Amino acid sequence: MNKIVANYKNIIRQIDLNEKKFNRKIGESKLIAVSKTFSSDVIQVLIDEGQRVFGENKVQEADKKWSDLKDKNKNLKIELHLIGPLQSNKVNQALNIFDVIQTLDREKIALKIKDFFEEKQIENNKRFLVQVNIGEEKQKSGLEINSTKNFVEWCINDLNLNIIGLMCIPPLVENSEFFFKKLRKLTDDLNLKHTSMGMTNDFASAIKHGATFIRIGTGIFGDRF
Ligand SMILES: *Cc1c(COP(=O)(O)O)cnc(C)c1O
Repeated sequence: MNKIVANYKNIIRQIDLNEKKFNRKIGESKLIAVSKTFSSDVIQVLIDEGQRVFGENKVQEADKKWSDLKDKNKNLKIELHLIGPLQSNKVNQALNIFDVIQTLDREKIALKIKDFFEEKQIENNKRFLVQVNIGEEKQKSGLEINSTKNFVEWCINDLNLNIIGLMCIPPLVENSEFFFKKLRKLTDDLNLKHTSMGMTNDFASAIKHGATFIRIGTGIFGDRF
């Protein structure tokens, strides 16, 4: 546990240093602590240290852990992000537990989200990022770069979804810089605010290129088993 707290403080420091180094506004690159596979006890340690924004990649696992965790910490403004794929049969469950969904990438899912709020007649207070297949890889999820503009505009104008930005998982190459630049430009071109990119190994470069959400798991919690 002490190790995790030390890791956490170190990451916070690194983010701050890199924001200064690359002339970014301090605090503009928000840390998402990616707690997938780690237990509620471990997560609670980080909440006690002051972390409020977390990421999970599986709907079922998140539901199991975070229903209690959110309840237990309901006076704190915990924010939970879905950073893994969303299947259409999990949309309702996902909307119940997550505050932000970063992996919107299909019309079918977007329509299901719209239906969820219409049927329940509740206010749509969720925020969404559209996932972009920035490396144009065959097997990877995310929208094609060329379709992103139309999709984002359709989600905003026709479905009334609160699209706040774009997210990517770049190809596994040594240097992600090219893809980070590309995603930030695409975000700016669409007049969106947020760019979610950068993980444990490349978050400094993501900060350099304008990330507003960086997603760090291993760098805080250690290896996943
Ligand atoms: C697991 C995961 C991360 C965190 O990766 P680390 O290398 O452990 O920091 C970030 N983004 C997504 C989409 C993930 O699935």
